[in-house]
Amino acid sequence: MERLLVSACLLGQKVRYNATDAVGAWTRADLFGHWQAEGRLLAFCPELAGGFPVPRPPAEIAGGAGAEVLAGAAEVIEQGGKPVTQFFVLGAHRALMEAQRLGIRAAILKEGSPSCGVHLLYQGDFSGRMKAGRGVTTELLERHGIRVFSEQEAELAAAFVADLERQTSASHRPLS
Ligand code: SF4
Repeated sequence: MERLLVSACLLGQKVRYNATDAVGAWTRADLFGHWQAEGRLLAFCPELAGGFPVPRPPAEIAGGAGAEVLAGAAEVIEQGGKPVTQFFVLGAHRALMEAQRLGIRAAILKEGSPSCGVHLLYQGDFSGRMKAGRGVTTELLERHGIRVFSEQEAELAAAFVADLERQTSASHRPLS
């Protein structure tokens, strides 16, 4: 059975910067409940794993996205300007290590987060505006072959996982 790495806040853990969770219609949907009952979902928060407490100041990626952060060409900054890039990079590497340790090949991460964003990030100037781009953890997971979906893409994730399981069972079928 394929397991999925999931942003801990999507699964109800109050680990966001403001000590809230990110449960929404998507995590209350039947699919998530079904997966949770099967024990498929591994909750993980890269920012806690990187050493941040709860609560913490909000942070955004300035001057790029996760790819530029990993290349050392952009910083993650807290509101107020303090650079906190190293904690985001550490959290991303810990997420990758955990996924690899468990043989996980798919993840569902929280859209818009500087760690977990899949398609969108905040602009980097704390204006509330958004830009296209992946968070630091999403970028690192994707680079290592782990497909990352946002919480709004759970159906796509389900199709991907079903495909992986079909391939695995075909490869274990005895030759006739
Ligand atoms: Fe949720 Fe990811 Fe932010 Fe942790 S780092 S609070 S899991 S969005």
